Amino acid sequence: MKLRPFCFSILLVTLLVQPLMTLAADGSKKEEAVASIEKHKTELIGLSDQVWRFAETALRETRSSKLLADYAEKQGFQVNRGVAGMPTAFVASYGQGHPIIGILGEYDALPGISQKAQPVKEALEAGSAGHGCGHNLFGAASLGAAVAIKELIAAGKLKGTIRFYGTPAEEAIGGKIYMARDGLFKDVDVCLAWHPEDKIVADVDSSQAIVDFIVEFKGKAAHAAADPWNGRSAVAALEFFTTGLNRMREFVKPTVRMHYVIQSGGDVPNVVPEYSKVWCWIRDSKRTGVEDVFSRARKIAEGAALMAGVESKLTIQGGDYEMLANIAGAKLIHANMAWLGKIEYTAEEQEFAKAIQRATGVAPKGLNGAVQPLEPPKKDPEGGSTDVGDVSWIVPTLHLSVTTAPEDAPWHAWPVVACGGMSIGHKGMVYAAKALAATMVDLFEDDKAREAVQAEFKEKTKGEVYKPYIPDGPPPIPRP
Ligand SMILES: [Zn+2]
Repeated sequence: MKLRPFCFSILLVTLLVQPLMTLAADGSKKEEAVASIEKHKTELIGLSDQVWRFAETALRETRSSKLLADYAEKQGFQVNRGVAGMPTAFVASYGQGHPIIGILGEYDALPGISQKAQPVKEALEAGSAGHGCGHNLFGAASLGAAVAIKELIAAGKLKGTIRFYGTPAEEAIGGKIYMARDGLFKDVDVCLAWHPEDKIVADVDSSQAIVDFIVEFKGKAAHAAADPWNGRSAVAALEFFTTGLNRMREFVKPTVRMHYVIQSGGDVPNVVPEYSKVWCWIRDSKRTGVEDVFSRARKIAEGAALMAGVESKLTIQGGDYEMLANIAGAKLIHANMAWLGKIEYTAEEQEFAKAIQRATGVAPKGLNGAVQPLEPPKKDPEGGSTDVGDVSWIVPTLHLSVTTAPEDAPWHAWPVVACGGMSIGHKGMVYAAKALAATMVDLFEDDKAREAVQAEFKEKTKGEVYKPYIPDGPPPIPRP
């Protein structure tokens, strides 16, 4: 109630400053959603900061997922923990019936990039993990948006179900793919997600599709000098394989990316190595492109084994679909972000960002808190893959990016960890929560807007069969 004058003043400003902006749904409910996020702001920042400090990696997010699930439960959500065979995955639901609007949250960190919340590179705990992709902010913001919608449903102002998905292991393994395999998204009408970035934009661009696989070679050991003719080298096969893969680079589309690391390459030179192992990723703009290059890589592995006289074994570990963008949804998001306006930064925050930019050798432009114009989709996505891509092929998925780090600063690296643990990250997190909540109000209230999103999805997936890259059996839960 206390927030009412504030809400009215925003409404007035909106009407005066943006007379041409039509908000699809009842504006006052959006203001209530924004006010709810303001009300819970300190708690949300607390959640984000705790997850930042826990910095737990893929499928080890025990404390992070418990923290978020406990908070959801305290807010009145019905929480189902340990879904899809993953102890750190959960689903929190509130409300009844359709529309069912889903919102994704992540909370896994990256190994080895621990960093203090300061603009100078220094580990918080040497050798430990850090939130170099800002997933501490991702989880807290999405949950904050879900709570705001829950409060509107509880007050009888929105009808339907809000469902928060606690999705572990985005950086490795792909928790959402196992959740998809268990059918956890199948009754959802529309799903939303966001990601920390160096700009604010309603996303119309895709991401890269990827396949993650291992090739192992098994030969025969022998003394490398006394009787090498009795040996068959698994490392020779590995070298034939990587040579073939590297030779193939010339004959693939420029959108293809191939990377590998050698995980086992013999122990000592005087033994003909009987075992070798290489871990590979192949990416392209579309799943069909990945399939093509992957089938050639498979033959190269077989050929390499043949040449070396050894056995080969290829094992798929996982993979992601490319993001299926939804333009109707992006328009909704964009209108809501234009309504929210830009993020304002203090001089200290800009200086923090510029210090990072100087330290990492990029132009010291500071932070960009402006809402970027909605532009037509690029033909090919920028580098990177996400398991949100898989969800986007099952359910219409809306995606936005919000500034949480300095422009052009390196990602999956210390600058993102640093900003994610202080006010720059907090501001982006709160902004994302508000943009997601306002957009969800549209999706609950405005049947036409929701149907346009669903119709576009139906059109784009016509004739497609979702076939994930996923090994049989349970998710690879690490030993404690
Ligand atoms: Zn990420």
